[in-house]
Amino acid sequence: MGQSAELRYAGGRRFYPYSQFLKERFGCKVYKLTVDAGFTCPNRDGTKGAGGCIYCENSSFSPAAGSRLSVREQVEKEKRLAEARYGASRFIAYFQPFSNTYAPVGKLRALHDEALSVDGVVGLSLGTRPDCVPPEVLDYLQELAGRTHLWVEYGLQSSHDRTLEVINRGHTFAEFEDAVLRTRGRGIFICVHLILGLPGETREMIQATASRIAKLGIDGVKLHHLHVVRDTALAGMYDRGEIRLLELDEYVRLSADVLERLPPWTVLQRFVGDVQGDSLVAPKWNEGKLRVLEAIQEELERRGVRQGSRYVGPDVPPGWADASRKVLAAARQADRL
Ligand code: SF4
Repeated sequence: MGQSAELRYAGGRRFYPYSQFLKERFGCKVYKLTVDAGFTCPNRDGTKGAGGCIYCENSSFSPAAGSRLSVREQVEKEKRLAEARYGASRFIAYFQPFSNTYAPVGKLRALHDEALSVDGVVGLSLGTRPDCVPPEVLDYLQELAGRTHLWVEYGLQSSHDRTLEVINRGHTFAEFEDAVLRTRGRGIFICVHLILGLPGETREMIQATASRIAKLGIDGVKLHHLHVVRDTALAGMYDRGEIRLLELDEYVRLSADVLERLPPWTVLQRFVGDVQGDSLVAPKWNEGKLRVLEAIQEELERRGVRQGSRYVGPDVPPGWADASRKVLAAARQADRL
Protein backbone atom coordinates (compact mmCIF):
# COMPACT_ATOMS: atom_id res chain seq x y z
CA MET A 1 0.00 0.00 0.00
CA GLY A 2 3.03 2.29 -0.11
CA GLN A 3 1.92 4.15 -3.24
CA SER A 4 -1.66 4.61 -2.04
CA ALA A 5 -0.48 6.96 0.72
CA GLU A 6 0.40 9.47 -2.01
CA LEU A 7 -3.12 9.60 -3.48
CA ARG A 8 -5.21 12.69 -2.84
CA TYR A 9 -8.83 12.94 -3.82
CA ALA A 10 -10.28 16.24 -5.03
CA GLY A 11 -12.73 18.21 -2.91
CA GLY A 12 -11.93 16.36 0.30
CA ARG A 13 -13.50 13.19 -1.02
CA ARG A 14 -12.61 9.87 0.54
CA PHE A 15 -12.86 8.09 -2.81
CA TYR A 16 -11.56 8.68 -6.31
CA PRO A 17 -14.30 10.36 -8.40
CA TYR A 18 -14.46 9.94 -12.16
CA SER A 19 -14.71 13.72 -12.59
CA GLN A 20 -11.28 14.08 -10.95
CA PHE A 21 -9.80 11.37 -13.14
CA LEU A 22 -11.09 13.06 -16.30
CA LYS A 23 -9.86 16.47 -15.22
CA GLU A 24 -6.40 15.08 -14.47
CA ARG A 25 -6.26 13.43 -17.84
CA PHE A 26 -7.78 16.09 -20.08
CA GLY A 27 -7.32 19.28 -18.06
CA CYS A 28 -11.01 20.15 -18.28
CA LYS A 29 -14.47 18.74 -17.65
CA VAL A 30 -15.39 15.88 -19.97
CA TYR A 31 -18.99 14.78 -20.52
CA LYS A 32 -20.28 11.36 -21.46
CA LEU A 33 -22.69 11.28 -24.40
CA THR A 34 -24.89 8.20 -24.54
CA VAL A 35 -25.24 6.36 -27.85
CA ASP A 36 -27.42 3.44 -28.96
CA ALA A 37 -25.67 1.74 -31.88
CA GLY A 38 -28.41 -0.86 -32.34
CA PHE A 39 -26.68 -3.87 -30.78
CA THR A 40 -28.37 -6.84 -29.19
CA CYS A 41 -27.09 -9.18 -26.49
CA PRO A 42 -26.26 -12.92 -26.50
CA ASN A 43 -28.36 -13.25 -23.37
CA ARG A 44 -31.38 -12.02 -25.27
CA ASP A 45 -30.94 -13.22 -28.85
CA GLY A 46 -30.89 -16.92 -27.97
CA THR A 47 -27.11 -17.46 -28.17
CA LYS A 48 -26.77 -17.64 -24.38
CA GLY A 49 -30.38 -17.14 -23.41
CA ALA A 50 -33.56 -15.45 -24.55
CA GLY A 51 -34.96 -13.79 -21.44
CA GLY A 52 -31.94 -11.72 -20.50
CA CYS A 53 -30.90 -10.75 -16.98
CA ILE A 54 -33.90 -10.65 -14.66
CA TYR A 55 -33.60 -6.89 -14.11
CA CYS A 56 -32.95 -5.96 -17.75
CA GLU A 57 -35.20 -3.59 -19.61
CA ASN A 58 -32.64 -1.62 -21.55
CA SER A 59 -34.90 1.22 -22.54
CA SER A 60 -35.27 2.06 -18.86
CA PHE A 61 -31.51 2.30 -18.29
CA SER A 62 -30.41 4.39 -21.22
CA PRO A 63 -31.77 7.64 -22.62
CA ALA A 64 -30.44 6.60 -26.03
CA ALA A 65 -32.01 3.14 -26.20
CA GLY A 66 -34.03 2.59 -29.36
CA SER A 67 -32.71 5.65 -31.14
CA ARG A 68 -33.21 5.61 -34.90
CA LEU A 69 -30.52 8.23 -35.52
CA SER A 70 -27.09 7.26 -36.81
CA VAL A 71 -24.24 7.17 -34.30
CA ARG A 72 -22.87 10.41 -35.66
CA GLU A 73 -26.29 12.10 -35.46
CA GLN A 74 -26.79 10.90 -31.89
CA VAL A 75 -23.38 12.15 -30.78
CA GLU A 76 -23.94 15.51 -32.45
CA LYS A 77 -27.40 15.88 -30.89
CA GLU A 78 -26.20 14.98 -27.38
CA LYS A 79 -23.17 17.17 -27.82
CA ARG A 80 -25.31 20.21 -28.68
CA LEU A 81 -27.36 19.64 -25.52
CA ALA A 82 -24.24 19.32 -23.33
CA GLU A 83 -22.72 22.42 -24.91
CA ALA A 84 -25.87 24.43 -24.25
CA ARG A 85 -26.45 23.11 -20.74
CA TYR A 86 -22.93 22.86 -19.34
CA GLY A 87 -20.70 24.75 -21.75
CA ALA A 88 -18.99 21.42 -22.41
CA SER A 89 -16.31 21.09 -25.07
CA ARG A 90 -14.84 17.60 -24.57
CA PHE A 91 -16.83 14.39 -24.75
CA ILE A 92 -16.67 10.63 -24.38
CA ALA A 93 -19.15 8.72 -26.54
CA TYR A 94 -20.69 6.03 -24.34
CA PHE A 95 -22.07 3.05 -26.25
CA GLN A 96 -24.47 1.93 -23.55
CA PRO A 97 -27.52 -0.25 -24.33
CA PHE A 98 -27.02 -4.00 -24.74
CA SER A 99 -23.59 -5.53 -25.60
CA ASN A 100 -21.50 -3.06 -27.54
CA THR A 101 -18.71 -5.38 -28.66
CA TYR A 102 -21.13 -8.02 -29.96
CA ALA A 103 -20.40 -7.58 -33.68
CA PRO A 104 -17.67 -8.24 -36.24
CA VAL A 105 -14.61 -6.00 -36.05
CA GLY A 106 -15.46 -4.21 -39.31
CA LYS A 107 -18.80 -3.06 -37.97
CA LEU A 108 -17.31 -1.98 -34.64
CA ARG A 109 -14.60 0.01 -36.39
CA ALA A 110 -17.12 1.84 -38.58
CA LEU A 111 -19.33 2.78 -35.61
CA HIS A 112 -16.37 3.96 -33.52
CA ASP A 113 -14.91 5.97 -36.38
CA GLU A 114 -18.28 7.68 -36.79
CA ALA A 115 -18.34 8.72 -33.12
CA LEU A 116 -14.71 9.81 -33.14
CA SER A 117 -15.24 11.93 -36.24
CA VAL A 118 -17.35 14.39 -34.22
CA ASP A 119 -15.33 17.39 -33.13
CA GLY A 120 -14.59 17.36 -29.38
CA VAL A 121 -14.98 13.59 -28.89
CA VAL A 122 -11.83 12.55 -27.02
CA GLY A 123 -12.70 8.98 -26.12
CA LEU A 124 -15.09 6.05 -26.17
CA SER A 125 -16.65 3.91 -23.49
CA LEU A 126 -18.15 0.55 -24.48
CA GLY A 127 -20.57 -1.31 -22.24
CA THR A 128 -20.43 -5.06 -22.82
CA ARG A 129 -20.38 -8.58 -21.36
CA PRO A 130 -17.33 -10.71 -20.49
CA ASP A 131 -18.38 -13.28 -23.11
CA CYS A 132 -18.41 -10.72 -25.94
CA VAL A 133 -14.69 -10.07 -26.34
CA PRO A 134 -13.17 -12.75 -28.60
CA PRO A 135 -9.44 -12.39 -29.40
CA GLU A 136 -9.96 -10.52 -32.70
CA VAL A 137 -12.19 -7.95 -30.97
CA LEU A 138 -9.64 -7.40 -28.19
CA ASP A 139 -6.85 -7.03 -30.76
CA TYR A 140 -8.92 -4.37 -32.51
CA LEU A 141 -9.73 -2.61 -29.22
CA GLN A 142 -6.03 -2.55 -28.38
CA GLU A 143 -5.39 -0.77 -31.67
CA LEU A 144 -8.29 1.60 -30.94
CA ALA A 145 -6.84 2.36 -27.47
CA GLY A 146 -3.67 3.44 -29.25
CA ARG A 147 -5.56 6.26 -30.97
CA THR A 148 -8.18 7.31 -28.40
CA HIS A 149 -9.02 7.15 -24.72
CA LEU A 150 -10.87 3.85 -24.40
CA TRP A 151 -12.88 2.24 -21.62
CA VAL A 152 -14.45 -1.20 -21.78
CA GLU A 153 -17.19 -1.60 -19.18
CA TYR A 154 -17.88 -5.19 -18.18
CA GLY A 155 -21.18 -6.07 -16.54
CA LEU A 156 -20.47 -8.48 -13.69
CA GLN A 157 -22.88 -7.52 -10.86
CA SER A 158 -21.66 -10.26 -8.48
CA SER A 159 -18.66 -12.58 -8.15
CA HIS A 160 -20.87 -15.42 -6.88
CA ASP A 161 -21.90 -17.95 -9.50
CA ARG A 162 -25.05 -18.88 -7.59
CA THR A 163 -26.18 -15.24 -7.74
CA LEU A 164 -25.25 -15.02 -11.42
CA GLU A 165 -27.53 -18.01 -12.00
CA VAL A 166 -30.38 -16.46 -10.00
CA ILE A 167 -30.21 -13.24 -12.01
CA ASN A 168 -29.75 -15.20 -15.25
CA ARG A 169 -26.52 -13.49 -16.32
CA GLY A 170 -25.57 -16.39 -18.59
CA HIS A 171 -21.86 -16.29 -17.63
CA THR A 172 -19.72 -17.23 -14.65
CA PHE A 173 -17.23 -15.29 -12.54
CA ALA A 174 -14.44 -17.35 -14.14
CA GLU A 175 -15.49 -16.04 -17.57
CA PHE A 176 -15.33 -12.49 -16.22
CA GLU A 177 -11.85 -13.08 -14.76
CA ASP A 178 -10.71 -14.51 -18.07
CA ALA A 179 -12.03 -11.50 -19.99
CA VAL A 180 -10.29 -9.06 -17.62
CA LEU A 181 -7.00 -10.93 -17.82
CA ARG A 182 -7.16 -10.92 -21.62
CA THR A 183 -8.04 -7.20 -21.67
CA ARG A 184 -5.31 -6.13 -19.24
CA GLY A 185 -2.01 -4.78 -20.51
CA ARG A 186 -3.50 -3.49 -23.79
CA GLY A 187 -3.85 0.16 -22.76
CA ILE A 188 -7.62 -0.27 -22.38
CA PHE A 189 -9.23 1.10 -19.22
CA ILE A 190 -11.40 -1.57 -17.61
CA CYS A 191 -14.55 -0.70 -15.67
CA VAL A 192 -16.73 -3.20 -13.79
CA HIS A 193 -20.43 -2.85 -13.02
CA LEU A 194 -21.66 -4.16 -9.67
CA ILE A 195 -25.18 -4.31 -8.26
CA LEU A 196 -25.60 -4.26 -4.48
CA GLY A 197 -28.62 -5.98 -2.94
CA LEU A 198 -29.05 -8.85 -5.38
CA PRO A 199 -31.41 -11.67 -4.29
CA GLY A 200 -29.84 -13.91 -1.64
CA GLU A 201 -26.67 -11.84 -1.24
CA THR A 202 -25.37 -11.12 2.25
CA ARG A 203 -23.12 -8.27 3.32
CA GLU A 204 -20.21 -10.73 3.48
CA MET A 205 -20.86 -11.86 -0.11
CA ILE A 206 -20.78 -8.26 -1.35
CA GLN A 207 -17.57 -7.63 0.54
CA ALA A 208 -16.08 -10.77 -1.02
CA THR A 209 -17.01 -9.53 -4.51
CA ALA A 210 -15.23 -6.23 -3.84
CA SER A 211 -12.11 -8.03 -2.58
CA ARG A 212 -12.06 -10.35 -5.60
CA ILE A 213 -12.32 -7.66 -8.24
CA ALA A 214 -9.80 -5.52 -6.33
CA LYS A 215 -7.10 -8.06 -7.13
CA LEU A 216 -7.79 -8.16 -10.86
CA GLY A 217 -6.26 -4.93 -12.09
CA ILE A 218 -9.39 -3.00 -12.95
CA ASP A 219 -9.37 0.77 -13.43
CA GLY A 220 -12.95 1.75 -12.62
CA VAL A 221 -16.14 0.59 -10.93
CA LYS A 222 -19.79 1.52 -11.33
CA LEU A 223 -22.03 0.73 -8.38
CA HIS A 224 -25.75 0.73 -8.12
CA HIS A 225 -28.45 -0.68 -5.92
CA LEU A 226 -30.86 -3.28 -7.19
CA HIS A 227 -33.94 -1.52 -8.44
CA VAL A 228 -37.04 -2.96 -10.04
CA VAL A 229 -38.29 -1.65 -13.35
CA ARG A 230 -41.53 -2.48 -15.11
CA ASP A 231 -41.85 -5.42 -17.51
CA THR A 232 -38.93 -7.42 -16.12
CA ALA A 233 -38.71 -10.84 -14.50
CA LEU A 234 -37.54 -9.05 -11.36
CA ALA A 235 -40.76 -7.04 -11.28
CA GLY A 236 -42.68 -10.33 -11.16
CA MET A 237 -40.51 -11.54 -8.25
CA TYR A 238 -41.10 -8.25 -6.46
CA ASP A 239 -44.87 -8.42 -6.95
CA ARG A 240 -44.89 -11.97 -5.55
CA GLY A 241 -42.95 -10.82 -2.49
CA GLU A 242 -39.92 -12.97 -3.33
CA ILE A 243 -37.27 -10.28 -2.95
CA ARG A 244 -36.37 -7.59 -0.46
CA LEU A 245 -34.81 -4.34 -1.66
CA LEU A 246 -32.21 -2.29 0.17
CA GLU A 247 -33.07 0.76 2.22
CA LEU A 248 -30.90 3.78 1.50
CA ASP A 249 -28.89 3.46 4.71
CA GLU A 250 -28.12 -0.19 3.93
CA TYR A 251 -26.93 0.76 0.45
CA VAL A 252 -24.73 3.50 1.90
CA ARG A 253 -23.09 1.04 4.32
CA LEU A 254 -22.55 -1.56 1.61
CA SER A 255 -21.09 1.02 -0.78
CA ALA A 256 -18.64 2.08 1.94
CA ASP A 257 -17.72 -1.59 2.47
CA VAL A 258 -16.94 -1.91 -1.23
CA LEU A 259 -14.92 1.32 -1.35
CA GLU A 260 -12.79 0.25 1.60
CA ARG A 261 -11.83 -2.91 -0.27
CA LEU A 262 -11.08 -1.44 -3.69
CA PRO A 263 -7.58 -0.24 -4.59
CA PRO A 264 -7.19 3.49 -3.87
CA TRP A 265 -6.51 4.19 -7.54
CA THR A 266 -9.73 2.62 -8.86
CA VAL A 267 -12.00 5.33 -10.31
CA LEU A 268 -15.59 5.43 -9.05
CA GLN A 269 -17.64 6.17 -12.13
CA ARG A 270 -21.11 5.89 -10.61
CA PHE A 271 -22.94 5.30 -7.31
CA VAL A 272 -26.56 5.34 -8.44
CA GLY A 273 -28.07 3.93 -11.64
CA ASP A 274 -30.49 5.81 -13.86
CA VAL A 275 -34.02 4.77 -14.65
CA GLN A 276 -35.72 6.57 -17.49
CA GLY A 277 -39.29 7.87 -17.41
CA ASP A 278 -41.79 6.27 -15.06
CA SER A 279 -40.54 2.69 -15.36
CA LEU A 280 -39.12 2.51 -11.82
CA VAL A 281 -41.23 0.29 -9.57
CA ALA A 282 -39.04 0.29 -6.43
CA PRO A 283 -37.26 1.34 -4.32
CA LYS A 284 -38.30 4.96 -4.51
CA TRP A 285 -35.87 6.77 -2.26
CA ASN A 286 -36.59 10.45 -1.88
CA GLU A 287 -32.93 11.38 -1.95
CA GLY A 288 -31.34 12.39 -5.23
CA LYS A 289 -28.02 11.11 -6.55
CA LEU A 290 -26.00 13.86 -4.91
CA ARG A 291 -27.46 13.13 -1.49
CA VAL A 292 -26.64 9.41 -1.87
CA LEU A 293 -23.07 10.32 -2.75
CA GLU A 294 -22.81 12.66 0.24
CA ALA A 295 -24.22 9.96 2.53
CA ILE A 296 -21.51 7.55 1.36
CA GLN A 297 -18.87 10.21 1.97
CA GLU A 298 -20.29 10.79 5.47
CA GLU A 299 -20.26 7.06 6.18
CA LEU A 300 -16.58 6.85 5.24
CA GLU A 301 -15.87 9.85 7.50
CA ARG A 302 -17.84 8.29 10.36
CA ARG A 303 -15.74 5.13 10.04
CA GLY A 304 -12.52 7.12 9.75
CA VAL A 305 -11.60 5.30 6.54
CA ARG A 306 -11.15 6.04 2.84
CA GLN A 307 -11.15 4.10 -0.41
CA GLY A 308 -8.52 1.39 -0.15
CA SER A 309 -8.32 1.27 3.66
CA ARG A 310 -8.95 -2.49 3.59
CA TYR A 311 -7.48 -3.15 0.16
CA VAL A 312 -5.43 -6.33 0.10
CA GLY A 313 -3.65 -6.93 -3.16
CA PRO A 314 -0.78 -6.00 -5.37
CA ASP A 315 0.59 -2.46 -5.34
CA VAL A 316 0.46 -1.94 -9.11
CA PRO A 317 2.50 -5.07 -9.78
CA PRO A 318 4.46 -5.94 -12.92
CA GLY A 319 2.00 -7.01 -15.59
CA TRP A 320 -0.83 -4.81 -14.29
CA ALA A 321 -2.78 -3.07 -17.04
CA ASP A 322 -0.94 -0.20 -18.66
CA ALA A 323 -4.05 1.82 -18.04
CA SER A 324 -3.85 1.31 -14.29
CA ARG A 325 -0.31 2.63 -14.26
CA LYS A 326 -1.57 5.75 -16.04
CA VAL A 327 -4.40 6.11 -13.53
CA LEU A 328 -1.97 5.90 -10.65
CA ALA A 329 0.44 8.35 -12.20
CA ALA A 330 -2.40 10.78 -12.85
CA ALA A 331 -3.78 10.38 -9.33
CA ARG A 332 -0.43 11.38 -7.91
CA GLN A 333 -0.83 14.73 -9.61
CA ALA A 334 -4.13 15.47 -7.83
CA ASP A 335 -2.50 17.76 -5.29
CA ARG A 336 -1.47 20.13 -8.04
CA LEU A 337 -4.97 20.60 -9.47
S1 SF4 B 1 -26.21 -8.53 -20.40
FE1 SF4 B 1 -27.03 -6.45 -20.35
S2 SF4 B 1 -28.27 -6.25 -22.22
FE2 SF4 B 1 -27.87 -8.43 -21.91
S3 SF4 B 1 -29.66 -9.17 -20.81
FE3 SF4 B 1 -28.13 -8.64 -19.27
S4 SF4 B 1 -28.52 -6.50 -18.69
FE4 SF4 B 1 -29.64 -6.94 -20.60
